[in-house]
Amino acid sequence: MLNIKELEEMGKKAGFSHVALLKSDSIQLMPEVREMCKNNICHMYAKRWSCPPGCGDLEVCRKKIEKYREGIIVQTVGKLEDPLDGETMMETEAVHKQNFYEFEKVLRERWPGMLPIGAGCCTKCKTCTYPDAPCRFPEQAFSSMEAYGMLVTQVCQANGLEYYYGPCTIAYTSCYLLE
Ligand code: SF4
Repeated sequence: MLNIKELEEMGKKAGFSHVALLKSDSIQLMPEVREMCKNNICHMYAKRWSCPPGCGDLEVCRKKIEKYREGIIVQTVGKLEDPLDGETMMETEAVHKQNFYEFEKVLRERWPGMLPIGAGCCTKCKTCTYPDAPCRFPEQAFSSMEAYGMLVTQVCQANGLEYYYGPCTIAYTSCYLLE
C-alpha cells in the first residue's frame, strides 16, 4: 500500500498544491468524454499517438489502467486576478506541466513501470510521428486523463479531492498510477 503521507510531502516539494491517493478501481472511463475529444477543441484529435484515436479505444485504455491498484492525483491551483485572467491560467498550466515532468522522473526511480497520465497531450517531441511512423518514445509518451476517457471531476470526487477552489481560481489535475 502506498504511503500517501510521504507522497504528499514529495508532491508538495515538487510544487503541487494538492496530492491525494488514487484508487484505480474508482476511475470511470466514459465514452462521452472520448466523444468530446472528437469535437477537437484542443486541436489535437488525431494529431498525436497520445491522443484519440491513436492512444487506443476505451478497452485498450481500461486494460492499461487495470494493471494498477493505486496511485496519486496531483493538482496545481492558480489564483486569478479576475475570471478572464488568461495570462495566469496559461502560467499555471505551464507550471503544472513542468512539475508533472520533473516529478515523473523522481517517481520513476522507485516505480519504473508506473503510468503517468497528464493534463493535455504529449509534448515530448516538437512534431509527433503520428500516423506515419511509430511513437519515438513509447515508454515516455503520456496521454491526458481525458484521452483515457476520464472525467477529472469524477476522479477527484471519488478520491476525496476538491476540483473547484472557489471564484477566481484555476486547477490543473494529473495523476500517476504507481503500483
Ligand atoms: S513521444 Fe513524441 S512521437 Fe510519441 S506520442 Fe509523444 S510527441 Fe508523439
